[in-house]
Order: sequence, then C-alpha cells, then structure tokens
Amino acid sequence: MPDKNSIKVQAIAAFDDNYFWLLSDSHCAVVVDPGDADPVIAYLEDQQLSLEAILITHHHADHIGGIADLLNWAEQSRQAPPTVYGPAGEDIKLVSDSLMQGDSIHLDNPACLLWVLDVPGHTAGHIAYYAEIGDQKHLFCGDTLFASGCGRLFEGTPAQMLTSLDKFKNLPDETLVHCAHEYTLSNIKFALAVEPQNQDLLEWKLKAESLRQVGKSTLPTTIAHEKLVNPFLRCDTSSVIKAVQRHCEEEQLKPSKISEPVEVFASLRAWKDIYR
Ligand SMILES: [Zn+2]
Repeated sequence: MPDKNSIKVQAIAAFDDNYFWLLSDSHCAVVVDPGDADPVIAYLEDQQLSLEAILITHHHADHIGGIADLLNWAEQSRQAPPTVYGPAGEDIKLVSDSLMQGDSIHLDNPACLLWVLDVPGHTAGHIAYYAEIGDQKHLFCGDTLFASGCGRLFEGTPAQMLTSLDKFKNLPDETLVHCAHEYTLSNIKFALAVEPQNQDLLEWKLKAESLRQVGKSTLPTTIAHEKLVNPFLRCDTSSVIKAVQRHCEEEQLKPSKISEPVEVFASLRAWKDIYR
C-alpha cells in the first residue's frame, strides 16, 4: 500500500489557459479533464507513469478532447485500459463509468477515494470530484468555480449554479480548489469593479499579478480564500448586494429591489458576461 502522503497533485498547462490536473504516486497517475492528450503523454512518459483513470467533469471539448488519444497511447504502451469516469447527466463518448451525486470512486493507484458532487450550471450535468488525501483536501471543480470567478451559465439556471457553488462553500475551508482555467487576473478585475474596497481582494490582486509576471499559476486556491475574494461566493454580503443594486439602477436593468441571493447571483453573472 503506497503512502498516501506521497501522492502529488499538479497541473499540466495546455492550450491558452487550461489546466489538466494530475494525481500521481511514483508509478501511476489519474488525469482530470484532459482536453488534449499530447502534454499529458509527454508528462507521463517523462515521469514513467502509467495512466490508471481519466476523470471528466463535463462535456466541453477542451475537457474531453484527449480521451481517445490517451486510451490509444495506453493500449500501445501495453497498459491496462484506463477507466474513464464522467457525468451520468451528459452523453460523452468513451466514458465508461457514469457518476452522480453520492457516488464515490476508490482508486488503487494512486490510492485515494473521490466523492462526486452534482454541480449543474455551467453545463446541465456538470460534476465535481472531492478527495481527502492524507490530511489534505482537494476539489476538482472543472468550469464551475474559478479563482475569484465562476463558470458561465451555458446550460443551467442561476438557481442551479448558486446551489452548486453553495455545495463548494460547505466544503472544509482548507480544501484546495483545482480550477480548470487560469482566468484569475481578469476575474480579479471584475471582482474589484464589484468590491473596490475589499482589502483581501486588493492584496490578492498584487499577489496574483506577481505570480503571473514570473509565469507561475495562481492555482490552486482554497475555499476559505474564495469566500473572501470571490463575488460569486459572496452574494449574501452587503457590499456585493449593494454593488449589484447600483449596477442594475445605472443600467436601468430592473427594479432595484434585488436582495435574494439568487437574484443577486443572476444579475452579477449577467454583469460579468458583458464586462470588459
Ligand atoms: Zn466548460
């Protein structure tokens, strides 16, 4: 039985701003949302790792585009075929095990247990994976939550997305959040338009900028940090409610009596959609 503390979690950067997250021990790896096989194969070959499983959060091409080539690579390198896990609510070619809220996955290599959360909103059947490895907690949230932002509502309703984000808020504060894109700086720009006085956000902006200046990732973030700096997790705070009310009045969008979190969230998401 491998030491659970020896499991590494790291990002493989791909395309313009995607991260494919990889869990690995000294022999085996699991990859989340491989939109492209090439950078994953290059890493696995360099580290001499076999691929145990592929975890998919939702059906978008930049999250699933590498599945077929990874399965071919595993076959050509005479490995056991990786299991491909994905959401039960979405029809994704090559997914062999469909998952929904309440399901869990017990992986042998690397040895870990992952729980599945239904988090519709960005897409209708989007799922997320939560794992406790040693004393460290991890969330693989696909395109539902980003550092200081959240995914666009392509298929779901604001109420669904808010419920999904609330599930994340209820996870332990120290949970590391492994988002699928490096959108942090542009998200911070919008977050500061909403909460220009948020001191945590102002500090985070400086830190994130210095990380990006030297080509480093701003991820993972944590649930605790997002509760402080992410307006989409703060739809029940007075500063965000007031900012949304002011924005709607200025844009003459609707009668200004927006106060329910779901109304605040819907207006905030619509504001971000057009914000430049
Ligand atoms: Zn997506």
